[in-house]
Amino acid sequence: MDSYTLPYTFSQRAQQLTSSTIREILKVTERPEIISFAGGLPAPKGFPIDVMQAAFNRVLETKGETALQYGPTEGYAPLRAWVAEDLKRVGADVSPDEVLIVSGSQQALDMLGKLFIDPGSKVLVEAPSYLGALQSFSLFEPEYVAVPTDDGGLVPEGLTDERTAGARFIYVLPNFQNPTGLTLDLARRKALVERCAAAQVPIVEDDPYGDLRYAGEALPGLLGLGRAAGATVIRLGTFSKVLAPGLRLGYIVAPKPIIAKLVQIKQATDLHTASLTQMAVYETVKDGFLTTHMPMVRDLYKEQCGYMLEAMDEHFPTTVSWTRPEGGMFIWVTLPEHIDGSKLLARAIEQNVAFVPGAPFFAGSHPQTNTMRLSFVTVSEARIREGIAILGKLIKES
Ligand code: PMP
Repeated sequence: MDSYTLPYTFSQRAQQLTSSTIREILKVTERPEIISFAGGLPAPKGFPIDVMQAAFNRVLETKGETALQYGPTEGYAPLRAWVAEDLKRVGADVSPDEVLIVSGSQQALDMLGKLFIDPGSKVLVEAPSYLGALQSFSLFEPEYVAVPTDDGGLVPEGLTDERTAGARFIYVLPNFQNPTGLTLDLARRKALVERCAAAQVPIVEDDPYGDLRYAGEALPGLLGLGRAAGATVIRLGTFSKVLAPGLRLGYIVAPKPIIAKLVQIKQATDLHTASLTQMAVYETVKDGFLTTHMPMVRDLYKEQCGYMLEAMDEHFPTTVSWTRPEGGMFIWVTLPEHIDGSKLLARAIEQNVAFVPGAPFFAGSHPQTNTMRLSFVTVSEARIREGIAILGKLIKES
């Protein structure tokens, strides 16, 4: 049916929406015979089901009336205090008033779009960057400016005066980036925050994977480094990768005037994040549970990553290069220039293997089409080896 015959009119904002490539691919990958390296799902083996069940029970037994009642938009006070304290681990000194609890960091991205982006506003992003953030921001019609990256991630020298002038913010993933798996080293972190401080560009630091480091040394986050350098830093965190994504629980850390505006926005969006979930997660983490839980999750991811890297060394031709992540869930592959990731995907699906082609992760007009993202987290060792062997063969045939 043509749109003019429809008995309703979508907003221009809605009309420009398109379906996410990843969602379309995931539909295919639901078939059990497909070996899928496409998903970004955490490993269910890492979900502490018993511990969380006990926490939900305790909250309902002892604080049921509060847990089932409306709560403050800012979030459950003990959880905000826990987050502030926990951020000392990444070198930041934060007050609980600077913490706003949200329904997953994806909600934070939407709220930041509402807060900072007018149609045509300049937003700086890494090339490539997290597709879900690009989708959230795009609803507010920004003009993306891609900051160059190399095999060490974002290149701070790429933050030229021309690029930074008038930018509303820069969106950065410093640890085990989605999609590349790359981590910014300390020198780049410092150079980045200094340039942003000088250019007065707020930094949005999205760090869902920082706690999933299984090799190398932990580095201070942009929040602490940025504050010391006089930059404005807004940090997004989440319980999705350390406990479970179905909780839909995350947080934003920002200077108080920004939190105050975000509280108004969150009120209009969903009043507050589920009280029961916040209280049960606080109950779960308050006595140091994550210190004992995370090593198990890290070991699992390290092992899975190792299987995939080994299989790639064995089966991929020397014309292909890929990242070797020190944490997180993704490996980024650069194919010979003549191979288009989307076309390779079509042939891979015929052979029951799926991955995400790289092009959609590039905002703006110069996608690197000879790229793909592989996730190694939820696939068994045998299927990782089988799937990578098939991809290797397809690449060689191209
Ligand atoms: N940011 C990044 C970089 C992500 O990879 C994800 C999840 N895939 C999110 C944010 C959203 O996470 P959540 O809403 O579950 O906290």
